[in-house]
Amino acid sequence: MMFLVPNSTEGCSMGLFGEKCEFCRKNKTKRKNELGQYICADCELEQKADSEEKRKCPVDGTQMEKEIIEDIIIDRCPSCKGVFLDAGEIDYLRELFGDSDSSSGFATGLAVGIAAS
Ligand SMILES: [Zn+2]
Ligand SMILES: [Zn+2]
Repeated sequence: MMFLVPNSTEGCSMGLFGEKCEFCRKNKTKRKNELGQYICADCELEQKADSEEKRKCPVDGTQMEKEIIEDIIIDRCPSCKGVFLDAGEIDYLRELFGDSDSSSGFATGLAVGIAAS
């Protein structure tokens, strides 16, 4: 039997230091939110995604849902499954998946990222 620990952006660097995140009670963190609660990078990003204004899909007008891939927030349309990125986010993902030449590898990486979240 295998036990998989979910990827955390802070998993490697923070290690055993810090306090338990008060939101997911899973990740350890040293950072606090404005209320003085311990919050890990994952939860902070999730809350940021929640607080961001929701966009409407340019294709069908459905309100899109925020989704987090690595440490950026994207908009995804639940209706047509379209994913919408800001220009900077696309560059970031390209870098992340080490793909500046072909768009196929980038798309695969993106699909994997979505499937995993
Ligand atoms: Zn957390
Ligand atoms: Zn749509």
